[in-house]
Amino acid sequence: MKIMSINCGSSSLKFKLFEMPEEKVITEGQFERIGFKEMGLYKIKANGLKEETELQLKDHSVAVETLLKDLIDKKIINSLDEIKGVGHRIVQGGKYFDKSCLVDEDVKKKIEELIDLAPLHNRPHLIGINAFEAHLPNIKQTVVFDTAFHQTMKEECFMYAVPYRWYKEYGIRKYGAHGTSHQYVANEYARLTGKNIEDLKLITCHIGNGASITAIDGGKCVDTSMGLTPLEGIPMGTRSGNIDPTVVSYICEKEGKDAKTVVNELNKISGYLGVSCYSNDARDLEEKYHEGDKLSRLALEIQDKRIVDYIGSYYFLLGRVDAIIFTAGIGENSSEMRKRVVDRLGVIGAKIDDIENAKRGFAHRISSKDSKVDLWAIPTNEELVIARDTLKLITE
Ligand code: AMP
Repeated sequence: MKIMSINCGSSSLKFKLFEMPEEKVITEGQFERIGFKEMGLYKIKANGLKEETELQLKDHSVAVETLLKDLIDKKIINSLDEIKGVGHRIVQGGKYFDKSCLVDEDVKKKIEELIDLAPLHNRPHLIGINAFEAHLPNIKQTVVFDTAFHQTMKEECFMYAVPYRWYKEYGIRKYGAHGTSHQYVANEYARLTGKNIEDLKLITCHIGNGASITAIDGGKCVDTSMGLTPLEGIPMGTRSGNIDPTVVSYICEKEGKDAKTVVNELNKISGYLGVSCYSNDARDLEEKYHEGDKLSRLALEIQDKRIVDYIGSYYFLLGRVDAIIFTAGIGENSSEMRKRVVDRLGVIGAKIDDIENAKRGFAHRISSKDSKVDLWAIPTNEELVIARDTLKLITE
């Protein structure tokens, strides 16, 4: 049975078509620059070939139409009826969703209601759902939420110490993000080591352009670093992570800006990019760091320090830690970041194996034999979780 995983961004649409339950990827790719005046870009990997085409992409519906037509033209599938389900990644599920579900009008209404909490994400997600509905009216669609895994946090972890009315009236609290990824790598760790997830206390570090850290006890999230929005937590490619909120009013006053503009700058021109004055990309900063660039080094060191702050705090929260797992673009690939972070974890007896740590591209242990904490790098696979959940929901 063929199932499509979809991740719609404001100007992009990423897709992966799976043969399920075999979990085989049939084709994958993405559309970029959707809704731009300039030409958009369509990339697809299929039949062992990679193709890139420039074309006008007025909106997400044009992207979906192009994709479905191309699947037939390229003989990837013989008929659109072969696709039995489409699963969408949704960033913000708020308090409504603690698990994946089938799409109906009520689900769409709730995702729309949550647009205020994730305007850059939930709006394009809805556009994607509607585009597939328009082109494949009889297909079953599902939604898989980045926030769902974090719904097990206790009040003391998800509440901010702000007027309680803000929570009651506006839902101001921590929701977290990257939940699908944290849950996936935690379960992969248990599977690969033959351990029972129920017995494990884990800290998962999803370090990519966006970055978050989660404490997991018995397979359930107990705390996570992202908050009401994905701005909270450790510094990221372009996001500041935690700061004193007074910075916002101070910069507003000094630069004659409004709060929305400054928060946008904390999202878009801070983090690696803001501190290094150079790039939001870890590879660029590592290169500059080796050339002796002080600000690139500082940008990386601020993040390293904050990652360790969270690991330390979650170590106490969990009472012990059986494994620390690194994932996402930087976590999976940057042996330098893993080494810098683990070198700061000596106090809990964590030690890295330099030879294992130099390897990448597959799930493997990176701790030395005498490390008191198991350390792993595990590639994440959010699209596969979406396909699995979709298969389950449409066959139930
Ligand atoms: P993601 O958002 O998960 O796609 O991660 C993107 C980040 O991963 C960017 O900062 C990339 O520079 C980083 N990244 C990807 N490959 C490598 C690599 N080989 N070494 C260091 N960083 C990498």
